[in-house]
Amino acid sequence: MIEISNLTFDYPGHRALDDVSLKVQSGSVTALVGPNGAGKTTLMRCIAGLESPLSGTIHVAGMDVIEKPREVHRIMGYLSDFFGLYQELTVAQCLEYAAASQGLPSNAIHDAIILTARQLDLSDRLQQISGSLSRGLRQRLAIGQAIIHGPKVLLLDEPASGLDPEARASLAMLFRQLQTSGMTLLVSSHILAELDEYSTHMLSLRNGRVLENRAISGSQPAIAQRRIRLKLSLADARLVDWIANKPGATIIKADAENAEFDLQGDLSVQSLLLRELVIAGFQVASFAEHKENLQQSYLQSVAANPIASHS
Ligand code: ATP
Repeated sequence: MIEISNLTFDYPGHRALDDVSLKVQSGSVTALVGPNGAGKTTLMRCIAGLESPLSGTIHVAGMDVIEKPREVHRIMGYLSDFFGLYQELTVAQCLEYAAASQGLPSNAIHDAIILTARQLDLSDRLQQISGSLSRGLRQRLAIGQAIIHGPKVLLLDEPASGLDPEARASLAMLFRQLQTSGMTLLVSSHILAELDEYSTHMLSLRNGRVLENRAISGSQPAIAQRRIRLKLSLADARLVDWIANKPGATIIKADAENAEFDLQGDLSVQSLLLRELVIAGFQVASFAEHKENLQQSYLQSVAANPIASHS
């Protein structure tokens, strides 16, 4: 959905993006991570066609952002890290203004407001003045303004900053819903634990360069390989060999009580294996798919690339 080649961006006297090349898959939720000043906001602004890079190309859904920013804006939503709302307008008026400025035909605006308010759980707030909303609701309204035209791609710069845990949890749920509806999301945040909940990919930047861009293991339901963690309530000396002999299973680490292994196949393969374990007499205390911890992975990748931090 997004394809960037050799993108370099300079502020006066400072190179913010240095030869960045990457792809963002359609239908993914990509966590854009990196320390302060890594270039996350600059990258998002370039993708949104709000900055003119020194060199390189950016394509969104096959369209060149630099050559055709207006066409790209029709299929893109963007929430800036410092967004503004018209404080005197009601929620409905804010959404109406966003819909009109995105070029929605006037006969489609009413339905778009109703649908977006429902998605953002703002239906009972439509007549409230936006300046009187809580921070969490203002954030939701700003996201509503970004998605009112039904974009294919949504860029969100620090969407959860300043929100309480409850508001963050409902934001995470919203992102999952948007992904399920087919949207591609690129979300920057410093709070990795929360990106964990809904991200399928991690793109990490450092000093204007891509450190890592990959799928997060265990994040896609259709994934052909799952990481399983198994714990027995009673040690059993047969465990290691039993798992090692199962077709499709590759042991990561195991002893007589615990095992971590990759398993090829879908959910039915997983449930069959659990059934076989129980029938074989193993005292299974827990058996679960293990999803990668984004914070740990990020810190590991930073530790594995110490030179980049000083370049
Ligand atoms: P943060 O996590 O703090 O929001 P970021 O990863 O989003 O940081 P950017 O805001 O993209 O980083 O900034 C990248 C680099 O460019 C930083 O070193 C920053 O100081 C610099 N920079 C950003 N905006 C400007 C500007 N208008 N003029 C000069 N330098 C800038």
